[in-house]
Amino acid sequence: MENNRIPMVAGNWKMNGDRYLVEQFSKGLKTQQLTCSVVICPPSVYLPLFSGHDFSLGAQNVSHLENGAHTGELSVAMLKEVGSSHVIVGHSERRESQQESSELVAKKAQQAVEHGLVPIICVGEPLDVREQQTVETYIAEQINALTDLLSVEALAQCVIAYEPIWAIGTGKTATPQQAQEVHAFIRRTLNEHAAGLGDGMRLLYGGSVKADNAKELFSQPDVDGGLIGGASLKLEDFIAICQAA
Ligand code: PGA
Repeated sequence: MENNRIPMVAGNWKMNGDRYLVEQFSKGLKTQQLTCSVVICPPSVYLPLFSGHDFSLGAQNVSHLENGAHTGELSVAMLKEVGSSHVIVGHSERRESQQESSELVAKKAQQAVEHGLVPIICVGEPLDVREQQTVETYIAEQINALTDLLSVEALAQCVIAYEPIWAIGTGKTATPQQAQEVHAFIRRTLNEHAAGLGDGMRLLYGGSVKADNAKELFSQPDVDGGLIGGASLKLEDFIAICQAA
């Protein structure tokens, strides 16, 4: 079925990169005629160093709080001031290492939308959940935390990235069928929450997306692009992935 969703490819540099990579991407992506939305999410300290680029910028995390006495945190207002239009929230590395709950992730997404950043909200199951065949229950809990807190209008502005934890940085990609099944489930869950909501939202796949598997993953009907980790650090690879979207 045809849809109006413009594909998106977002690069999550994680705690990688330097001034040189910032310059390389600012110049190198410009010469490409890409038809998808491109978002680069470097470590936040590098956001103000981008110049002359023609893609969007995103942060990798944000506080759910307003400016104030919160040592070490960054607010939506600050990220916007240094050029961000997007922000990744709820990445599994933060859910795991920083004990971010689905409720906190929802608060971050809400804070982002309310103050004008597009959240790219990550969901995804660990390996044992996949093995026990309880993926839908697990993902539903993560999605329900969002639908419990955010208004339908706010949800409509969000992007959701399905990233099975067992596929992140492991070289083990979900098969296109596995990705499609979960994406279809997420879209259906959102549509059940509010008619048409899921149909309008972009759902990205993440987890060992590479230049040679991107096309097949992105050609699934409910996969609207990808959130790319390792392969977003090499300009050539990232361009090839964008071209597949
Ligand atoms: P990967 O990471 O592409 O290196 O698997 C994806 C992510 O964590 O967003």
